[in-house]
Amino acid sequence: MPGLVGLVLQVAVTAQPGSPPPLTVRLGERLRLVPVIVEAHGGVSLRADALAEALGGRLVTTPGRAGRFRLEVGPAVVEFETGRALAVTETDTVPLPADVVRRRGMPYVPVTVATDLLPRLGAGVLYDAERSELRRFAPVIASRAAPSPVRRTDSGSAALPPAPPARTDNSRVVESRLAGARTHVVVVDAGHGGPDRGMSGPLGGGPKIFEKHITLAVSKALRVALEARGIGVVMTRTTDTLIALSDRGKIANQAKGDLFVSIHVNAANPRWANPGGARGFETYFLAEAKTEDARRVEAMENESIRFETTVDASRDDPLGFIIRDMAQNEHLRESSRLAELIQGGMRQVHPGPSRGVKQAGFRVLVTAFMPAVLVEIGFGTNRGDAAYMTDPTRQAQLAARLADAIVRYLAEYERKVGG
Ligand SMILES: [Zn+2]
Repeated sequence: MPGLVGLVLQVAVTAQPGSPPPLTVRLGERLRLVPVIVEAHGGVSLRADALAEALGGRLVTTPGRAGRFRLEVGPAVVEFETGRALAVTETDTVPLPADVVRRRGMPYVPVTVATDLLPRLGAGVLYDAERSELRRFAPVIASRAAPSPVRRTDSGSAALPPAPPARTDNSRVVESRLAGARTHVVVVDAGHGGPDRGMSGPLGGGPKIFEKHITLAVSKALRVALEARGIGVVMTRTTDTLIALSDRGKIANQAKGDLFVSIHVNAANPRWANPGGARGFETYFLAEAKTEDARRVEAMENESIRFETTVDASRDDPLGFIIRDMAQNEHLRESSRLAELIQGGMRQVHPGPSRGVKQAGFRVLVTAFMPAVLVEIGFGTNRGDAAYMTDPTRQAQLAARLADAIVRYLAEYERKVGG
């Protein structure tokens, strides 16, 4: 219904001749239209005060500094100066495509502030280009309000004192959710861990890598990126420990996650003509393996089970039955869409080729009753991919694209179920 109201309003406003359509901004169920002007140079600018109001934030004039003002949306703060093509954030000075201007006494900023800049600043803002709609999620209040010292130690090296950070962190998300906060929760699963080191590489020499370290580092980066976008995160592990495949799903279900993302590193089949040369990224969703290569990855990732010492009754469940059951489930279609968006996101930054969206019967995905995907972020057997995946800057970059894809998926899903 709000969609309809928005449409009617938009039609009414766009009907005025000579003025460009305003930007639609959705905040929860509320829709606002932000006036837009086309500058002489052809660029499009937005009325900054209306933008702030529409996003539930505010515009503050800097006292004593004529022409300076600050846009505050949740934790994101950006400062502008009239007549300059710059945006100053807490950490960066960002060039804008055109000057910030004042028209009839009102401040206008280039439209990229809404479409590019704000979505990167941790205010839970997403620009949906298909709909020309700017959206803001409800922020994760509980998680943001109490930044724990854990967050800081997590970004450090692996040689940190063992702490129970994961539990406190996760329980805060779950509590805020139970308290009725309208937040999204993504379960991030770092593949392997402890005695299960996963794959190792690369072939032909070079710094030795183990999958379990890369998956943990990228998963932590993904948590930071998601939380910056206003999304709650539950980690299946935050330390180098072994968690049974079936328990990973249980953790996800207990957290009432909206979706489950498992991070892994691929390994080339030694029988391939040039195994060291194989590289690139692929995203799987749960279904029966369709190709020989998908079956190979499925077998490799399901191998983790041999490290598990406790017997889980569910392990003997015929996998095929569960998959057939899942196939009737909405989650399958959702997972496939999520996989598609994630694959598209990685394509923007990954040096290797996209190997596409694939299907396989991963045990780790079977027990999570929510849309679930498994991402092979690169080939640890390839030198180039191995170097890429171990570089913290590029890990953060990759995580940001994954987070953007997830935000986009959640926005699409919310729209489908009616906000
Ligand atoms: Zn793996």
